[in-house]
Amino acid sequence: EDDVVRVEDLRLSFYTTLGVVRALNGVSFNIPRGKVLGVVGESGCGKSQTGLSIMQLTPGRIEGGRILFREFNTSDVIDITKLEKNGPEMRKIRGNHISMIFQEPMTSLNPCYTVGHQIEEAILLHQTQDKAEARRRAVDILRKVGMPNPERIADSYPHQLSGGMRQRAMIAMALSCNPTLLIADEPTTALDVTTEAQILDLMRDLQHEIGTSIMFITHNMGVVAQMCDEVAVMYLGRIIERAAVDDIFYDPKHPYTISLLRSIPRLGVARGQKLESIKGTVPDPYSTVPGCPFHPRCPAAIPGLCDTVMPDEMFVAGSRTHTVRCHLYT
Ligand code: SF4
Ligand code: MG
Repeated sequence: EDDVVRVEDLRLSFYTTLGVVRALNGVSFNIPRGKVLGVVGESGCGKSQTGLSIMQLTPGRIEGGRILFREFNTSDVIDITKLEKNGPEMRKIRGNHISMIFQEPMTSLNPCYTVGHQIEEAILLHQTQDKAEARRRAVDILRKVGMPNPERIADSYPHQLSGGMRQRAMIAMALSCNPTLLIADEPTTALDVTTEAQILDLMRDLQHEIGTSIMFITHNMGVVAQMCDEVAVMYLGRIIERAAVDDIFYDPKHPYTISLLRSIPRLGVARGQKLESIKGTVPDPYSTVPGCPFHPRCPAAIPGLCDTVMPDEMFVAGSRTHTVRCHLYT
């Protein structure tokens, strides 16, 4: 098996004073070595919590399932859910084998230290004891992420950099350990289009160079088209469709995927013309919807079936890679 990570039937809940929120209701997927899996869906569907669960950084409680992880060049498979959140094995995985980058770089950059110092610390922790060598590698990786003057950037504090530069610095830090898996949670959402394009190019290059697998969380289908090999579409804590990127764009099956695609701004849309938005809203997180979770918003819902029976995940006829969870395809 060439999977770097395999998530099986993951269940995650939040216990709040208002009740229990079932954030993930049996999420299963795999990411093969060196591939980019896009995870898409509206906010609140569980994309970020899936990524945070893999890092054991979610504030929720994992109630079931497994997260099997295999680092580069080993055959050992570790079930991350069995590791202690802040134990030494989990810390080693977080710093060394799985990295995560976020929309807001200040969540992972420390404002009190220079950018170079922070990257050097990560390198000293895991790769070499030699300080001069760590400095050389830090400057080198800053150059790789497209910093025009890496020596000077290394000596800058995060607040001295622009948003785009900070994002590059965070990516440099995340990549300084040559991670087996990179979890990117909306990493370019806050950036202008030009910087976004540069950052996406950069991630693609590094993925080719190092062979890192990427879980790319986004609500932007345009970014998915540029970045991803495969796509998992999430709705209310479940994956409702999964396929190669071309199949998602040219042959989407699930009514929710179809409406997500319709909501993408297209070049042909006249200025000021309203984009189609998806009917209805995501239900109250404290309640559970019987049947297919999308039925209250689904234009194709079958009365008496969709509102009572949860559809199973199944392969689309004639495909061995495209799966969907919808009664229209049984
Ligand atoms: Fe719509 Fe029914 Fe398919 Fe759910 S199962 S997406 S309600 S058609
Ligand atoms: Mg999110």
